[in-house]
Amino acid sequence: MVKGSLAIVGLGPGRREYITPRALKAIATAEYVIGNASYLEPLEPLLAGKHVIRSSMGKEVERAKAAIDLAKTHAVAIVSGGDAGVYGMASIVLEVLEHSGTEINVEIIPGITAANSAASLLGSPLSGDFAVISLSDLLTPLEVIEQRLDAIFSVGIPVVLYNPKSRGRPHNFALAIEHARKYLSPDTPLALVKNALRDEGEETIVTTLGKVETVIDSVDMHTTVIIGGNESRIWRMGDNVKGIITPRGYHHKYVY
Ligand code: SAH
Repeated sequence: MVKGSLAIVGLGPGRREYITPRALKAIATAEYVIGNASYLEPLEPLLAGKHVIRSSMGKEVERAKAAIDLAKTHAVAIVSGGDAGVYGMASIVLEVLEHSGTEINVEIIPGITAANSAASLLGSPLSGDFAVISLSDLLTPLEVIEQRLDAIFSVGIPVVLYNPKSRGRPHNFALAIEHARKYLSPDTPLALVKNALRDEGEETIVTTLGKVETVIDSVDMHTTVIIGGNESRIWRMGDNVKGIITPRGYHHKYVY
């Protein structure tokens, strides 16, 4: 066992108050902090006196190797947005570590993932079973993504779409909508949540599967999309559309 340590830290959606105290502590005690420049920016006040390695998207393997090398002798925190285990850095770091045969103290610190952040701004769209799918075909072939979409929409549970759009894959979201329409009614609620729980750019749009074309241009790489299941409905307060409720089924057992 060597004397360094490695914390794989989820930073939550963005705003400082949504970072867990455990994550803040790991950053405070780290000698090296490694992560994407955009995730490190909100942490700036905590980084004084530390070695900070800012990396860019697409260099995850190099970043993982560098973190492990440093963690043999130093306290290292490698940070990801949301939860590091959900389309984040945790798996590649653990795979590289396993492959290297190095034994170090590793701690994975959970963060609030985009599905939770987005759901919180919509009410309660994910109250029972739900599924999460990334539309990024950088690491998963598009045909596999399509098979998964088809399987999930066929059982009528709410679906959270991560990575719905980026420059490299502008059509994947439209493909996902085609699959959804095979199984779900046009009245099915659908919401876009952009920059959830961040200081800038937060926006929520609630519509239906049948009308998604009117909002499709708003989908970007900072958006999480929630498509309701066959029991989900629009949540209203007075004349205002507030979000989405997916009942858990209490109405089958109780009168309220
Ligand atoms: N590890 C991250 C996900 C990284 S994949 C997590 O657990 O949240 C990147 C995708 O996550 C984005 O394309 C977007 O779909 C979603 N995302 C991450 N943060 C978000 C936020 N604050 N608001 C809306 N979507 C977000």
